[in-house]
Amino acid sequence: MKGRIFDIRRFSTHDGDGIRTTVFLKGCPLACAWCQNPEGISIKKRPLHFENRCIHCGTCVAKCKNGGVEQKEGSIQLHIEKEEDWERLIDWCPAGALEMDSRECDVEEIMQEIRKDLVFYRHGGGITLSGGEPLFQWEFALEILKQCKKEGIHTAIETSLYTDGEVLKKVLPYLDHIFADFKIADEKKHQKYIGVSNKRIKENLKLLLGSEKKEHVVIRTPMIPGITAVKENIQDISAYISSIYPEVSYEILNYNPLAEAKYHLIDREYCFEENPKLYTKEQMGEFESWARLGGTKNVIIE
Ligand code: SF4
Repeated sequence: MKGRIFDIRRFSTHDGDGIRTTVFLKGCPLACAWCQNPEGISIKKRPLHFENRCIHCGTCVAKCKNGGVEQKEGSIQLHIEKEEDWERLIDWCPAGALEMDSRECDVEEIMQEIRKDLVFYRHGGGITLSGGEPLFQWEFALEILKQCKKEGIHTAIETSLYTDGEVLKKVLPYLDHIFADFKIADEKKHQKYIGVSNKRIKENLKLLLGSEKKEHVVIRTPMIPGITAVKENIQDISAYISSIYPEVSYEILNYNPLAEAKYHLIDREYCFEENPKLYTKEQMGEFESWARLGGTKNVIIE
């Protein structure tokens, strides 16, 4: 079985306990306007141009056959809708400024990467599946998790929970830790900012927090100014999850201004014209107090 990944990040300390190897699976059914990994949204493979590496030699423009690369006002522009032999153009680039955004690989190739880090997992580390939405390629994700458990490797996942409940039931036995997002409690706002209904996510939260893995679940909300970082939203999310499992762990994630830099790479517009700053410790403390008002006792802030 083959799957498509867009990154493997080693020595991560933010994606679960200990030192972790995070595998990023491509493809996501959501359309969050502030996505941290916009290159992981589309399941399709596409070329990327890195302006900082480009020496503007013009080779790619000269070698392309159907106008897929253009040099305009001194900078290279890709037209990925045009049919080109992109792999060949990447080989031609002398500066490594062209790259495909992802690659296909089988479970064994991923396991070979993971096994290189085994020594670092001794003190509570392991692997984390992320994305995109890792369950968008759920059969591939399931095979990686099964193999990890066979080899005694701790497993975690970062999921939007926007998946079929039956899929969730299939992967749960192979997961040691689950980070699940619940971003917007209001159905209409969820549709507006995320592009889909939150009904399925709410159903899966019931399933997850009613399962025997509930102690190993952390529900997360990223703080997006004016969208998720709103008192009513934090309070409603907190009330919903604590009504299912009063001991639930709820993590409030600070806004990440660094994501904006990735958007120009994939020709997408970022949701803010002026990029907001990280929230201060005091502001995060206020969000925490709103979460506690909603009923959650175990609130985590960075
Ligand atoms: S071949 Fe590479 S270095 Fe040369 S212009 Fe194209 S992207 Fe830039």
